Amino acid sequence: MVKRIAVLTSGGDAPGMNSAIRAVVRTAAFEGISCLGVKRGFVGLVNGDVMEMNPRSVDGINLKGGTMLYTARSPEFKTEEGLRKAAQTCKYLGIDGLVCIGGDGTFRGARDLSRYDVSTVAIPATIDNDIACTRYSIGFDTACNTAIEAIDKLRDTMQSHERCSVVEVMGRNSGSLAMYVGIACGASAILIPERETNFEELYERMRMARIQGRNHHIIIVAEGVGTANEVAQDIIEHTGVETRVTVLGHVQRGGSPTARDRVAATRMGVKAVNALLEGRTNRVICFKDKGIIDQDIIEALDMSHEFHQELYDVAIQVAR
Ligand code: ATP
Repeated sequence: MVKRIAVLTSGGDAPGMNSAIRAVVRTAAFEGISCLGVKRGFVGLVNGDVMEMNPRSVDGINLKGGTMLYTARSPEFKTEEGLRKAAQTCKYLGIDGLVCIGGDGTFRGARDLSRYDVSTVAIPATIDNDIACTRYSIGFDTACNTAIEAIDKLRDTMQSHERCSVVEVMGRNSGSLAMYVGIACGASAILIPERETNFEELYERMRMARIQGRNHHIIIVAEGVGTANEVAQDIIEHTGVETRVTVLGHVQRGGSPTARDRVAATRMGVKAVNALLEGRTNRVICFKDKGIIDQDIIEALDMSHEFHQELYDVAIQVAR
């Protein structure tokens, strides 16, 4: 019998986390159970730093970026002692189910808690959209749109000065964000960690494009490839084109979530609470072809991220 649940956000923040918190809190109220908010992810769970949540405590947060519960990384939680303290907090506070919102590090934390009899459900939230078990994770759409807005502005000035712009976007292990942003912005090239770039071909294409009348270029680099500065230096050396660097950085993680993120996060939050109430615990909420489902967390963590080859091919074919 579930009487009280708790919710936390952990790892890197993502726009839409607030919508997921709101959905968890409101669904709990709808079902007549109490809900706690744990501050700073697993840090708050280890230290017992929680607050009572009710439908009014989440008024207006749907449109705000970031997370009202704050987020943090907790090395202590990864130790057996930290994990034990976190589980004790759950026991002491009578938490029958815990919703953990974050990336796959957060999922591993949720999985480990189940060894101490804490029932968890995880919700994928990361702007990288690189979680293997789900087609979509909260924050991706907003991050894409934030980057696109900035790059569209850059294009204006690159065109006026006839320059090349090398733009570094987030994505240490995944080129998902770079590919979406690059296609949407009409980039001349998209450099991602999953695939080798043929630099000689790129320089030749840039030289030819210049001869044929293209006076500027946008090159998107996912951070996992290397620094935008290095890429820019090589472009200058091999093509002679005046080149500028922009690192979008943390701006990609902020901002009011788009409709897609608000709705996805709300659906996931509702689904997470329903799963806990139906006794399906140690699960991850995922978007699959057939819709939104919950999947065993160990199974989900065993999956490897599938590269979106068709998207990559599209990017290559239109980057002329
Ligand atoms: P993002 O990658 O988008 O920043 P994330 O959830 O993967 O999100 P991490 O910093 O990897 O972010 O993990 C968040 C927290 O989860 C960590 O601070 C730690 O407390 C816990 N965690 C991470 N990895 C593990 C692990 N292997 N086992 C147990 N707990 C973990």
